[in-house]
Amino acid sequence: MQEIVGAIHGHSTYSDGTGSFPEILAAAQAAGLDFLAMTDHDTLQPLQDIGEGFHGKTLLLIGCEVSPPTNHLLALGASTCPSRDQPPQDYIDELRAQGALTFLAHPHDRGVPLAKIPSYRWDAWPIDRYTGIEVWNHLSDWSGNLGKLPHALRGVVKPHSFLAGPEAETLALWDEAGRTRRVVGIGGLDVHDVRIGRRPLQLRVFPYPFAFRALLCHVLVPDWPPALEDAKTALLAAVAAGRLYFANHAMGDPRGLAFRGLTAAGDEAVQMGDECEAPGPRRLQLTAPRAADLRILRDGQVIAHSFGRDLACEVGGAGVYRAELRIRRGGRLYPWAFTNPIYIRRAPGAAVKAAAADRWR
Ligand SMILES: [Zn+2]
Ligand SMILES: [Zn+2]
Repeated sequence: MQEIVGAIHGHSTYSDGTGSFPEILAAAQAAGLDFLAMTDHDTLQPLQDIGEGFHGKTLLLIGCEVSPPTNHLLALGASTCPSRDQPPQDYIDELRAQGALTFLAHPHDRGVPLAKIPSYRWDAWPIDRYTGIEVWNHLSDWSGNLGKLPHALRGVVKPHSFLAGPEAETLALWDEAGRTRRVVGIGGLDVHDVRIGRRPLQLRVFPYPFAFRALLCHVLVPDWPPALEDAKTALLAAVAAGRLYFANHAMGDPRGLAFRGLTAAGDEAVQMGDECEAPGPRRLQLTAPRAADLRILRDGQVIAHSFGRDLACEVGGAGVYRAELRIRRGGRLYPWAFTNPIYIRRAPGAAVKAAAADRWR
């Protein structure tokens, strides 16, 4: 397995971002990204004008973000961007029919009441057949916490502490949705590089070069071929399989992080994104490249917790198991990395027997 690192969810001058593609690509290359998935609002025009492909070592993919007033949907691997003037399930299904991957974008965005910016949350329920959820959105995290003055001030002095982490509601939604099928979690930048005022007094909200060193996705691919179509297929297949974790690089590069299920003999049985039937692997093992606050959760509840580089726990039956890592700095814990789950499902017969007592059946 090879670990590739890149950014998902960016806007250019094709929608409301301020950067041109050459400028954005230069920033992505300078940051050393393996891939960059741009997602302008309601358009795939850059697919025609710019095209996908490698720029140096950075693979540029062009997706889109279907963007009605609420219910934004990120699409990767799409050939056309569907109309936003239809029920969300319809644009999900239209993209699915194209073979595209779809992610509910910033589902619990709170807007910025002070600046009269509305909430772009997801509110079309119930919904199904989407690939996953943008569990951590860099822009929503920042804007949603602007009103909390101590947090905002700390963020000015120490930019790494701008981010508060995924919304608790979004994590709960992800854990719940994963009880019946794989629901892939991603971290998205939503980078626009908003520029307020003129130089030299210009204020820039998360310039591209800053963002490309912040919230990134680490994807485990079998190999990373040099040809566009092969690399694109490898990347999207791994994302669809949930073989990824996302992390705020402002707190350090977590490359090498592993979350695996092991057999009694200690061999790897499953890894993040995998679904298997109970009893599944004997133990779960989380390994970090440096000491951190480590947690393993089952169905949203912490079942193992320690500070260090390794954490292991026994598997306690069916459940959605995932890991969270936090970095300790100056007596505080900052969110760092979040893995996709390992899903351990009840054997079909057992599920029927337990139906009356079990709220997820
Ligand atoms: Zn959006
Ligand atoms: Zn966006």
